[in-house]
Amino acid sequence: MKETKYIFVTGGVTSSLGKGIIAASLGKLLQARGFKVTNQKLDPYINIDPGTLNPYEHGECYVTVDGHEADLDLGHYERFLGVETHKANNVTTGRIYQNVINKERRGDYLGKTVQIIPHITDEIKRNIKLLGNKGEFDFVITELGGTVGDIESLPYIESVRQLKWELGNKCLIIHLTYVPYLAAAKELKTKPTQHSVKALQEQGVQADILVLRTEHNISMDIRKKVALFCNVEQSAVMQSIDVPTIYRVPMNMQAEKLDEVVLTKMGFDLAKTPAADMAKWIEFVEKLENAKEEVRIGIVGKYVQLPDAYKSIIESLLHASAYNNKKLKLELILSDKLTEENVEKKLGNLNGIIVAPGFGPRGMEGKFTALKFAREQNMPCLGICMGMQTMSIEFARNVLGYADANSTEIDSTTTHNIVDIMDEQKDILNLGGSMRLGAYKCKLKRGTKAFEIYGKEHISERHRHRFEFNNAFKAEFEKAGMICSGMNEESDLVEIIELKSHKFFVGVQFHPEYSSTVVKPHPLFISFVKASINNTKSL
Ligand code: GLN
Repeated sequence: MKETKYIFVTGGVTSSLGKGIIAASLGKLLQARGFKVTNQKLDPYINIDPGTLNPYEHGECYVTVDGHEADLDLGHYERFLGVETHKANNVTTGRIYQNVINKERRGDYLGKTVQIIPHITDEIKRNIKLLGNKGEFDFVITELGGTVGDIESLPYIESVRQLKWELGNKCLIIHLTYVPYLAAAKELKTKPTQHSVKALQEQGVQADILVLRTEHNISMDIRKKVALFCNVEQSAVMQSIDVPTIYRVPMNMQAEKLDEVVLTKMGFDLAKTPAADMAKWIEFVEKLENAKEEVRIGIVGKYVQLPDAYKSIIESLLHASAYNNKKLKLELILSDKLTEENVEKKLGNLNGIIVAPGFGPRGMEGKFTALKFAREQNMPCLGICMGMQTMSIEFARNVLGYADANSTEIDSTTTHNIVDIMDEQKDILNLGGSMRLGAYKCKLKRGTKAFEIYGKEHISERHRHRFEFNNAFKAEFEKAGMICSGMNEESDLVEIIELKSHKFFVGVQFHPEYSSTVVKPHPLFISFVKASINNTKSL
């Protein structure tokens, strides 16, 4: 049993400073020193989970192997640490209140008045400690969503105050703030930082380490001033300067000695602690930064105004491009606006396209147009989830000749419902809901592209969808050259389709993007990018 230490990352001044990246970077540095680490995110919103949130509200919904619909920061944690997260790694205010109210209804509180302190804060602390109590981790790094001073954040800050009191130096608080540069005065300004640290102090929490997000280097003098005003040692005031890629942040934070200061403050003897081995990470970042030749990839989807909606796909493409020594030139293409008339102009100069996941009818027809173009032009194309579903419908319409082919999600009256709710799905749902969520095992057919890509017969991938390929059309598809190359292990559900006579035309019912990491880019993305690089015809 490990004795777990708890680190909290709070944020001040503004949102979007990159708390998740700082938390993941610290996790990476501690892991690189041989420690077992997990990252957790506490979200102050009242939704039970982000599953029902429109991607425009909160970016992509990430899915863990155990089928939890989670905040996209968990994606950063997995990509940085290469360690799977679970439901316990993401907690929302909605879930905290739901648990407390359920307990109240069960009579667990024995007639007491149920209050924010102690009942809500106890439930928050219980959820934080759930990870530590496993005895698996040296460190649990918990990121508090929101900004200090928000009404929603108060119970979380109060819980951190209590934990610090209970755990002493087994608990540490890192506060991330912003130091703006006033161009007119040519000066970096620390006042917002001072205020934000004070706001934290007013709630009884003293930060141990301050990370100052900045666009310009912060001098020793300024650090000294911040240290003095904020009751923090000067060595514990460090900067996080803007970088072209988030993957540089761990190296920058290592240069700022974030890991060393954390360990020293938590009572470790640095002389007895192994140095961080970041070799593989650095190798990746250098490849990413040094690649000169471009590979031009388009993502065809309907949420393109907010790239965060496709966070994991974009990161997976970055991993795979760097792996292939190429610089990713990404284009986000709004499927609603794609037509037969403009498709050549919009896709013609790309090396490959991804047809994105999504729910509902908006932008569907544009996806068909993109797919037809890629299929006919022999342009590499990867369809993900809804992308795979549209891939099969386009094939049914334009190759099999079923003009009314559709998904029952879009049109329940069609006679050619290529994508439908399948009985086989109901048999294997592991969460009791109607969505297939989390990891499912898949068997690959030998001799197919899928088999060649993964290099093995048995794989496991994460799902998040309600509809499935309709098996009634399987034989007809295969006869016409669209092979079902991956099947669910426990049922007859189709997980991968691929076009035999094509450079790369693969559709996957699952989401490979959730499991691509820096050190281990996903084979499907590696192979798709490779095929795109080799597709010079459309250059
Ligand atoms: N709309 C599809 C379904 O529910 C696909 C969802 C997705 O792309 N994640 O089956």
